[in-house]
Amino acid sequence: VLILGIETSCDETSAAIVKNGREVLSNIIYSQIEIHQPFGGVVPEVASRNHVKKISSIVDMAFKEAGIGYSDIDAVAATYGPGLVGSLLVGLSFGKSFAYAAKKPLVGINHIDGHISANYIGNESVKPPFVTLVASGGHSHLIYVKDYDSYDVLGQTRDDAAGEAFDKIARTLGLGYPGGPAIDKAALEGDPDFVQFPRAYLEDDSYDFSFSGLKSAVLNYLNGMKMKNIKYRPEDVAASFQMAVVEVLTEKTIKAALDYKTDRVCLSGGVACNSLLRKMMREKCDAHGIALDYPAPSLCTDNAAMIAGAGYHKYQKGVFAPENLTAKPNLKIG
Ligand code: ATP
Ligand code: MG
Ligand code: FE
Repeated sequence: VLILGIETSCDETSAAIVKNGREVLSNIIYSQIEIHQPFGGVVPEVASRNHVKKISSIVDMAFKEAGIGYSDIDAVAATYGPGLVGSLLVGLSFGKSFAYAAKKPLVGINHIDGHISANYIGNESVKPPFVTLVASGGHSHLIYVKDYDSYDVLGQTRDDAAGEAFDKIARTLGLGYPGGPAIDKAALEGDPDFVQFPRAYLEDDSYDFSFSGLKSAVLNYLNGMKMKNIKYRPEDVAASFQMAVVEVLTEKTIKAALDYKTDRVCLSGGVACNSLLRKMMREKCDAHGIALDYPAPSLCTDNAAMIAGAGYHKYQKGVFAPENLTAKPNLKIG
């Protein structure tokens, strides 16, 4: 089964052809990062405009690279939420028209389902059930994956997402945008014990996250240093901040895996690229005899292969989009 995936929920215009939800024939990603860099974040109107400019040629490139024709696909899968409404509308409308013209069914995909489904790509051994941490620019969820496209949300952030915290702290430290990779890199040269920032574990039995307290603690620390005219190395602050985030993400994920008696943990979303998170998760999972998987970095951040992957599992279940499917910026998971 060949699925054309389309993803435009934020600032990546992407199209992919994926076979049976696991084999990538092509995955074209046009990132607008450079366009938004001067603004320090994604400007919604600018993002939608650039999706419009690129979508048609990106889809064509996906077919060309896969070496197949339009009629070879079995279905079109497009993200319809959550995300920026204008951006979502571009990919969804394009997907709808393409499916109609090619006389193929359309599958509507939840972007978070896409991030989770990235774990199946190129890895036959990953099958539900498992616990996954979804940590991205807009979301931080702990999810029990019962089956393909069947999710129990165990916990989620009560304020900022993990990736959002990385982006904000990086901006304050002058490390640039996007912040996650910048902090990851700077932290390699820093001391994670330099500052003891707070870890928000919340209630004993809670799988929820909270990162706004940590964010304030870092900002207060930096303001204090400035007022007292004390020099600090941004690398040390980055490393200390990263350690505080990663410790909480790891502890809660392991707790969920043990509580739900699952022997498999997967990481999803852009923050799953983080080198300390991968390392600490590996150590803890090994210690508990839990199998750990995470997608290749290019499949962790936004891409259409993960959308086509999620599309395959919905296609198998015969779950198709109604003709009036529209963009849902606040679409929930589970
Ligand atoms: P969402 O999926 O929630 O709608 P998004 O699509 O913007 O948000 P992704 O593309 O999944 O998010 O991930 C981008 C986020 O991942 C950014 O916040 C970025 O800083 C973060 N990120 C990327 N690489 C790393 C890294 N190495 N360490 C930490 N964070 C990272
Ligand atoms: Mg992005
Ligand atoms: Fe994303």
